[in-house]
Amino acid sequence: MLTVLRDAWIVTQNANRDVVRGDLVIEDERIVSVGPRYNGSADREIDCSGDIVMPGMINTHTHIAMSVMKGVVDDLLFPDFLDKTFKIDSDRTDEDLTVGTQLGCMEMMLGGTTTFMDLYYSEDVIARATQQAGIRGVLCWCVLDQECTTQKGNPLNNCKNFHSKFKNERKIVPAVGLQGVYVCSEDTCLGAKEFSDEVQAPLNFHLSETRGEVNDHKRKTGKRPAEWLYDIGALTPRGVSAHSAWLTMREVRMMREVGMSISTCPASNMKLATGGVAPIPELMQNGVNVSIGTDGSTTNNTLDMFAEMRLLGLLQKSSRWDATVTPAQQLLDFATVNGAKAIGMQDSLGSLEPGKYADIAVLDGKAPNLRPLLPENIISNIVYSGSSFNVKHVFCQGDMVVRDREITTLDTEKVLASSEDMWRSLCLR
Ligand SMILES: [Zn+2]
Repeated sequence: MLTVLRDAWIVTQNANRDVVRGDLVIEDERIVSVGPRYNGSADREIDCSGDIVMPGMINTHTHIAMSVMKGVVDDLLFPDFLDKTFKIDSDRTDEDLTVGTQLGCMEMMLGGTTTFMDLYYSEDVIARATQQAGIRGVLCWCVLDQECTTQKGNPLNNCKNFHSKFKNERKIVPAVGLQGVYVCSEDTCLGAKEFSDEVQAPLNFHLSETRGEVNDHKRKTGKRPAEWLYDIGALTPRGVSAHSAWLTMREVRMMREVGMSISTCPASNMKLATGGVAPIPELMQNGVNVSIGTDGSTTNNTLDMFAEMRLLGLLQKSSRWDATVTPAQQLLDFATVNGAKAIGMQDSLGSLEPGKYADIAVLDGKAPNLRPLLPENIISNIVYSGSSFNVKHVFCQGDMVVRDREITTLDTEKVLASSEDMWRSLCLR
């Protein structure tokens, strides 16, 4: 199958960050040409004249199945939020997990996101629902101390079983999760890290989200969470720490030394009023790979990477009294090339270059909020003026999963209608 996207502004995100006007050619799952006019025959031609063609975005921290829990725990103090969320979380069924995942995938697809990294239990159910939606899930089965969970059986063994079952499935990357140091002993952290080493899978975990978490851990161990994880040997280049808002420079240097990534979640931190602002300029100066996560739909409450890029930039600038920090190109990098690096797929994803997977979002170049549109302002327009509603078409690994804002893979009416039933069954009790 050969597809040509004609006459677009192509935001390549290649090493030179080139923006070119021309054609992009997809053969089966991969990009074969970027820029030059294509004169051969094609199975499918899509007129993109004046539209923006950009890499599908990579959301590196979600709890996607929570998409059916919107508006349940808003405007609560953090302990009350946790209490109520855990109660609902422990009582979920395969059916509501499936509807939640598909609803979340629909939102992400229509927002130009083609890959997400998820942290939850029952990732086998989430994997099946994600495959039906047709985007890529890096699905991290949540590991924690057995006495702290309602998972049946040992969480690390559940994670290992999930990995062996899904390791060869298309667009699914089974991976490892850790809930956080507050429910994970040294043995639990090391068990998860060793398994991640053994199978070379990403390891996603919550880290230093709140000041309370840091202070409690210091009282318990004498060390801050990142210091403690470093000292016990649980940090890894495959690690992606979500939030990472309350860090010292010493911890930033440890993260650099290990070569790990962070997933900053600005909307979630602001909505829960957890206070800390992730030290993005310092992380960047020290060479820590920064990516962006939306977190789940109880704490954001969207999975919108356009909104998240913009909010992150505004938060960093505002909190530093410095408009020069996190410039537009850097914010777009966080959502594309850096996201790909965080999940270990920088050779296949994150930029539009021959040989890479065709993970692509096409934005409507006729949308007034994106005009005037010139090569000189295109990155700024995507980051500061762009919106999920500008997304016209989306490809994931060569499959056209959104065409003219219509999802091609799911019975969307059914998912939408079920979402209220699931909300009522989960949240009204
Ligand atoms: Zn989270």
